[in-house]
Order: sequence, then C-alpha cells, then structure tokens
Amino acid sequence: MPFVDFLECSRCQQTFDSQELYSLCSECHSPLLVRYDLELIKQKDLKGKLYTRKPDMWRYFEVLPVNHQDDIVTLGEGYTPLLPLNCLGQSREIKNLYVKDESLNPTGSFKARGLSAAVSMARCLGVQKLAIPTAGNAGGALAAYGAKAGLAVFVFMPDDAPKANVLEVRMTGASCELVSGTIADAAKIVAERKESEGWFDVSTLKEPYRIEGKKTMGYELAEQFCWELPDVVVYPTGGGTGLIGMWKAFAEMEKLGWIGAMRPRMVAVQSENCAPIVSAFEQKKNSAEEWEAPSTFASGIRVPKAIGDFLILDALRESSGLALSVSEEEIYQSICEVGASEGVFLAPEGAACWAAIKKMRMQGWIGADEKVVFFNTGSGLKYVDSIQSFEKVMQ
Ligand SMILES: *Cc1c(COP(=O)(O)O)cnc(C)c1O
Ligand SMILES: [Zn+2]
Repeated sequence: MPFVDFLECSRCQQTFDSQELYSLCSECHSPLLVRYDLELIKQKDLKGKLYTRKPDMWRYFEVLPVNHQDDIVTLGEGYTPLLPLNCLGQSREIKNLYVKDESLNPTGSFKARGLSAAVSMARCLGVQKLAIPTAGNAGGALAAYGAKAGLAVFVFMPDDAPKANVLEVRMTGASCELVSGTIADAAKIVAERKESEGWFDVSTLKEPYRIEGKKTMGYELAEQFCWELPDVVVYPTGGGTGLIGMWKAFAEMEKLGWIGAMRPRMVAVQSENCAPIVSAFEQKKNSAEEWEAPSTFASGIRVPKAIGDFLILDALRESSGLALSVSEEEIYQSICEVGASEGVFLAPEGAACWAAIKKMRMQGWIGADEKVVFFNTGSGLKYVDSIQSFEKVMQ
C-alpha cells in the first residue's frame, strides 16, 4: 500500500503487516489501527490538491488504506453537508450551531463510510464471505457494499430492529437472520459460527478498516470549517467508532501540518436506557461494564458493550469532553423540534445529540459564542416504524 506503514495494536502497540488480513491483536485482543507514513504524505501536498477531487470520502485517498483507486468499492459515500442551524441555535442562545448531516450517505446512514473502506480492503485481501452483527444500519451498509463488490454477506440483527434495516439487507441480496436480544447476542452467533462457515467478521473495531472510513468525518469537519476545528463535537455513541476515528483523524492532520494542536471537546451521547460509556465516564473508569437489558428506540446506540470503550474514554478525557445521557422522551421531542424548525428529519441518534446540547447549554458547559457541531448519523426515514411505536406507547 502506497502510504500505509503497518497495523498497530491500540493497547499494547504490537505491530502487524498491513498486507495481511487481521482481526484483533493476537497478543491482547484489542483493536488494530492503521498507521501511515505521514511524513511522506506531507511531501505530496494532498491538502493543496483537494479542490481537484471528487466530493466523496475517497478524496482523502492517501490517508485511507486502499492500494489502488480501482480497488475502491464505492456508492458515493461521504462529503456530506455541514448545515448551519441558525433558527434552532438562536432558540437556545448558541450562535454557531451546525449539524453534520450523515443521512445523505448511501443506505441513509454514516455506516456507509466504514463499510466502503472495510469491504474494499476485505476484497483486496481475498475475503469471499462477510458476516456482521448489527443493530441495523451497519448490516444494511455491508449488504449494499458487499453486493457492489460481488461478495457474499450474512447479517445478524435484533428481531426488533427497524423494518427498513431488514428490508434493505434482503433487497441488496444478503442473508438476514433475526436474533432475539441485542447486537451483543448477534455478535455471539457470528463468533460461534464464523470458523465453520468461513466468514470474515466485519464487527466494528474487530477489523482495522471500518474506523478508517469513519475517520473521514474528522477530515471533512476540518476541511468544511477551513481547517479550524469547532469547539465542541457531539456524537451519538454506540461502539464509538466515529468518535475514536475522528480523534485519530485530528492527530493525523496535526502531523500533516493541516491543523494545530487545538482540539474540540468531544461529547459522547447515549440513551438513559443504554449508557455504559456515560456510567464509566462518571465513575472515572478506564473501561465500561456491560449494560443490562438495553432498550432504546435509538437503535444505533443500543450497544451494551463496546470493544473500544477505553479508546472512547481516552478521547473524551484528553479533549476535556463529556459523556451524558438523555431520555427517550427527550429524543422524541428533539426529532420534532429540529424537524419543525430546520426541516431536517433526524434519526433518533442524531436527535439525542440535540437533546444533550440543550442540557449542556443550560448548565453553561457550552458557551453562547462557541462553535458546536452535532452528528445526525442517519435518516429519520429509516425509523418510521420505531417512531410510530414510540408514539403509540406514549399515548
Ligand atoms: C451505528 C450508529 C451509531 C453509533 O455509531 P458508533 O460509531 O458505533 O458509536 C449512531 N447512529 C446511528 C444511526 C448508527 O447507525
Ligand atoms: Zn495488543
């Protein structure tokens, strides 16, 4: 690979050959991260060439893991709009409020970024069958990119996942098995069967490349803000891949000389009904306990245990950030509020971020003049049945 040096364990720093297929670190079973020759990339003036490139995430090709342009499996992911929310911001005295609207990605969620990178690399490294445990959107994205790549895809998702997720998997030609329980129960099935079935497990952070796709959100934030990062980044956190990815992107960009040492305060938002990271953050722990019986209609953040928990917690603390939870009712109200005032139909996960911002502003943790960005990680349109069920329960 032109600019990849090696893979490095995020915990024990053991290094691995980047031309081979790996899952977790063989020494300590932690996530592996891709390391690049940033000095060499720095000499290529990639930043100066960006204006000539297509508006998708592969415009950052040199800091992505694929060897040749021809090996990219793409459906046009990334370079999503960064929308100013003036009306909404004014209502809470936040002068500079933005949403990074990931709902415009292929398959209607930002999972497209990670799976574009992971499927591209899996195919390069000779994989033929891919399997994934998912809360819903990652399965839809893997099925789509797997179809595009001509690979077989096996998806395992909770039986109460949004209907759109089940259908998108089937309609793009993948196998979809519904599992009773959560993504953690789906993960157990994949782990048990992968060896006998010959599947490569594309669980997030159990292979090194999904995070590389998701880190492009960090590159885009910098580019769209003219290389000056915002003060606060608010992120709906399940496995935390996007948050860890952006944190990695910021470090890479500093080494490339594209940005300075300033970092946004990173905020992880979870539902009160599934808040393992919030709980670990508040107890000043370095890893999170598995959350018992999680039940939020923001299904993308219904993740009881994250393998990258220590990396999420590191990024929150290093950035002087925060983890906080919001109620189901607050999430629902926020969908309605943002929809009515800005015309953006948020996914519940994105709405959770707005609910959290209101609290942080009220407590003075966010100042009136600060630049605040939250991620709408998916389209509300993928959740029509979940939102309707929630409305019924409330009546
Ligand atoms: C997966 C998902 C999340 C959580 O993303 P992580 O990077 O794993 O924390 C948030 N929102 C939506 C819509 C998702 O599909
Ligand atoms: Zn290790």
